[in-house]
Amino acid sequence: MRTDVNLKAYIRAELAVIDSDNHFPARMIVMSDHLDHKRDVAVAVMRPALQAVRVSLDVLLPPQCLACDALVSTPGTLCHACWDGAVFVSAPLCAACGTPFEFDHGPDALCGACLRDRPRIERARAVFIYNDVSRNLATGLKYRDRTHAAPALGGWLARAGRELLANADLIAPVPLHRGRLWRRRFNQSALLAQAIVKNTGGEPALSLDLLSRTRATPSQGGLNAAERRRNVRGAFSLNTRHRQAVVGARILLVDDVFTTGATLDACAAALLGSGAAAVDALVLARVDRPR
Ligand SMILES: [Zn+2]
Ligand SMILES: [Zn+2]
Repeated sequence: MRTDVNLKAYIRAELAVIDSDNHFPARMIVMSDHLDHKRDVAVAVMRPALQAVRVSLDVLLPPQCLACDALVSTPGTLCHACWDGAVFVSAPLCAACGTPFEFDHGPDALCGACLRDRPRIERARAVFIYNDVSRNLATGLKYRDRTHAAPALGGWLARAGRELLANADLIAPVPLHRGRLWRRRFNQSALLAQAIVKNTGGEPALSLDLLSRTRATPSQGGLNAAERRRNVRGAFSLNTRHRQAVVGARILLVDDVFTTGATLDACAAALLGSGAAAVDALVLARVDRPR
């Protein structure tokens, strides 16, 4: 049985889908054949009714903070406490991995780790440093049906990734394995990628199925950097129908959280191995000193 809060979050998520011009295709595609068919039917029946009473719902369901359950005055924002707790990543940064520097060493400066071992991801950028607030944002999107947060997160991502977006040929999410996609109903990284492209007026071209996860990998939680790399090595492959599009292209990968970068590195290996010119990454939150 859903708790009250979950039900509210769920109704809000559905309203966000209604509000979205694009109807978040990734979510809809997956919803069409997922296990919870009864709920989908109920939503399909409820949707017009929800639309009609949108104004009164805003009164009944006052907007909540995107990261916690606190009430806020406008939808799609954070409460005061979460604004205070959120740490936005800002320059100066390592030009490659995007780790913030304490002092400005110039626009092309690299951190020690990147100087020693240049990552496959040419440039990685993040909106937030990973902490309690950004973890709540990421897990809310992933596990708690807070898909209504995607448009706001897309705005922040588009800003943090402005330079990367400016010269990307393709933007693509880090894929989930089919089994996990089935259980979760949507790929949170695909929602973020869609929200970014919506913010930038459709550029660069979005490819939701550019990569696929060819084997299910155990969760990266609790693994160290070397174990994480081993865990995801060879787990991704390019969908053959996109072979042509990738050759010579600069690709921007989107993910929710950057910990050691192992997952993004494995994705980049698959793309570069297929002839991509370069791979960048844009994430919602990154740990402060991953390497
Ligand atoms: Zn909050
Ligand atoms: Zn670096």
